Amino acid sequence: VKCLLTGGSGFIASHVLACLIRRGYTVVTTVRSNVKGSKVLLPYESLPAGTLSFSVVDDISQEGAFNKTIEENPDIEYVIHTASPFHNNISDPIKDLLNPAVNGTRGILEAIKLYGKLVKRVVITSSFAAIVNTGSHPFIYDEKSWNPVTWEEAINDHSLTYRGSKTFAEREAWKFLELEQPDYDLVVMNPPLVYGPVMPHIHALESLNTSNQRVRDIVQGKCVEGAIPPTGTFLWTDVRDLALAHVRAIEVPEAGNSRYLITAGHYSNRQIVEAIRKTHPDLLPSLPINPVDDFPPDVYGYDNSKARDILGIKFRTLEESISDTVESFKQIGVLN
Ligand code: NDP
Repeated sequence: VKCLLTGGSGFIASHVLACLIRRGYTVVTTVRSNVKGSKVLLPYESLPAGTLSFSVVDDISQEGAFNKTIEENPDIEYVIHTASPFHNNISDPIKDLLNPAVNGTRGILEAIKLYGKLVKRVVITSSFAAIVNTGSHPFIYDEKSWNPVTWEEAINDHSLTYRGSKTFAEREAWKFLELEQPDYDLVVMNPPLVYGPVMPHIHALESLNTSNQRVRDIVQGKCVEGAIPPTGTFLWTDVRDLALAHVRAIEVPEAGNSRYLITAGHYSNRQIVEAIRKTHPDLLPSLPINPVDDFPPDVYGYDNSKARDILGIKFRTLEESISDTVESFKQIGVLN
């Protein structure tokens, strides 16, 4: 069974790919260059020919970006779209974040419409960013909640641009499905902050993904003196649980046509530090002595029952996730 995975060199996608391969799928993955594609393939070189290949899509903002990939692989049955910029390095909010997120999502669906005649299901990596409502948190977050951010706010306030990009991209996908009524159905993943090990064959200290940068700063002793900056998101999940959720999302028939809040639960900076202290006592000198719990006592609740009951996800603990993150950092030189 062939699956298309977009953005295969990404932090989350590298784990989705590992999970797909473990479960016997044939995978075509998009990457932005041949160099990245060769890196992504490295651990899988002994697989039978044709099991894993890459296709270069250097900018998902461009119209028709995915057409060639799907035209060349008409036997694709499942599509997992993870590619989307996640960084705060914004000079032009439209060009840097909003266009790739929205055009990329529309583009993959347009390409399937043109060439993906056998596609049965599409899974899109959206985010808790498309759910959170910072102006008025509900008592409990679940899949019914939508971020009310507007296009103008996302352009004018750069702290809202990423969240806007995920919200508008996800809305674009649901709108497309409603208008086009295709033969496939859609499943959307809405994870909050994602921690967990990076893959040393692709990721380097200089290009560490955004969500793990907090853990990097803590172990590198950058937070000893001052407070650790709050995240503003008090829910988290492990990348391996999220990867499995993506794959279960294509495997579980009744999962279709739905969003999934994929979260293991609450976390705070203090809990991250405690996890490192307990599992990596050698790093004690680098750690803040008395980190504050940065979530308020009346922090919002969450309902992850759909992820547990329908996708069958059993969430890892923060301690395991952070410990494994730190171990992977050793391999990419974060701790040298
Ligand atoms: P990464 O930065 O590791 O992955 C992003 C991927 O998208 C990379 O492969 C990147 O390629 C690709 N990409 C970005 N912009 C473009 C573009 N214009 N054209 C082509 N490819 C592009 O981040 P994550 O793995 O963390 O994120 C993956 C997905 O998960 C994103 O959709 C993100 O919004 C979502 N997400 C992440 C969370 C987290 O905490 N990490 C939380 C919730 C959702 P390259 O690296 O070559 O630029």
